[in-house]
Amino acid sequence: MTTDNSGDVRLSGISKTYGSFTAVHPLDLTVPQGSFFALLGASGCGKTTTLRMIAGLEEPSSGTVHLGEQDVTHLPPYKRPVNTVFQSYALFPHLDIFENVAFGLRRRGVKSVKKQVEEMLELVQLGEQARKKPHQLSGGQQQRVAVARALINHPKVLLLDEPLGALDLKLRRQMQLELKRIQTEVGITFVHVTHDQEEAMTMADTVAVMNAGRVEQLGAPTDLYENPQTTFVANFLGTSNLIEAEVDSRSGEDVVLRAGGGKLTLPRARCSAQATTGGKVLVGVRPEKISLTHADDAGEIPDGRNRITGRIADSSFIGVSTQYVIDSPVCPEFEVYAQNIDRDPRLVPGTEVVLHWNPAHTFGLDAAQDIDAGVGTVGEEAA
Ligand code: ATP
Repeated sequence: MTTDNSGDVRLSGISKTYGSFTAVHPLDLTVPQGSFFALLGASGCGKTTTLRMIAGLEEPSSGTVHLGEQDVTHLPPYKRPVNTVFQSYALFPHLDIFENVAFGLRRRGVKSVKKQVEEMLELVQLGEQARKKPHQLSGGQQQRVAVARALINHPKVLLLDEPLGALDLKLRRQMQLELKRIQTEVGITFVHVTHDQEEAMTMADTVAVMNAGRVEQLGAPTDLYENPQTTFVANFLGTSNLIEAEVDSRSGEDVVLRAGGGKLTLPRARCSAQATTGGKVLVGVRPEKISLTHADDAGEIPDGRNRITGRIADSSFIGVSTQYVIDSPVCPEFEVYAQNIDRDPRLVPGTEVVLHWNPAHTFGLDAAQDIDAGVGTVGEEAA
């Protein structure tokens, strides 16, 4: 039995330099046929350049691009079985929606377009809008026309360059689900560029986190979130509390660490750093994994949990949760997100608390990295 891999995207050692500046360092990457793949990173990290090299809009300085078995490195864009959807929808203003979608077929000399266009409009749920002009549609609807117009050419791969960037937050969230549905329905490979981590995690089955022209980590969204391998990824995808700790010993499948006079347990399988006795490791834990207990009740905390002490510096009630900032000897601004169920009214700024969590939710990173890497980039831009 042969499997169709004509929609695989295989990048081998591709790089892009502009004069002495390297926008993309040599990169090896395979996007399997039929997957929804996201290139995620802050502005300027090289994600658009990578996408443009796949589209043929940018010539790689080195390396090759394969689509399935075909080497397309030197093919012009229009000869590649790919289509790109950009942030600016670039619809033809004088044509109605039907004709915008039909455009690619007509250009190829296809005579009877009605059935295909109608099917495509149904796919993007715009059947009723066929005779309207682009300016009569909302931003989200216009973007769906752009998707339909690209898909009607039956590309093997659809490239999406920040396609939702011009939409307001609510519409963007709706369109993320909509694009995911469309991708599942048509089953072709989608490669999506975004700086919005929530967007990447909502839609993609595989995310490549890019930083300064390199892929820092690649994996399923849950894997990247739960097991970040670098401080950049730990801070770029959500928030991480990072504690500098020293390796005390090993105990079975765990590493025991010393931090601020106390001990913490880290599963060895979740440590991407060399954990040699006496060596340094950055211990990470996500804010929502931590429980807060008033210091007076510390005796009630079950054994076996990682714990540190601190004082509440700030608390913000944001509806679904309360976000606390804790001043702790091991970390000056420890963040804790607590769901608003049975809130302890004593947990106000100034209160001494114990922070505790299941050791299984601890991850370990190489301490030689910049602890602030990636902080505050995504949320600010995506807001
Ligand atoms: P954004 O989200 O802002 O589009 P990006 O991650 O997609 O960012 P790229 O557009 O790939 O980033 O650009 C990567 C780097 O390459 C940037 O520093 C950019 O300034 C630089 N660059 C891109 N195109 C050129 C060019 N034609 N000449 C010189 N430098 C360029």
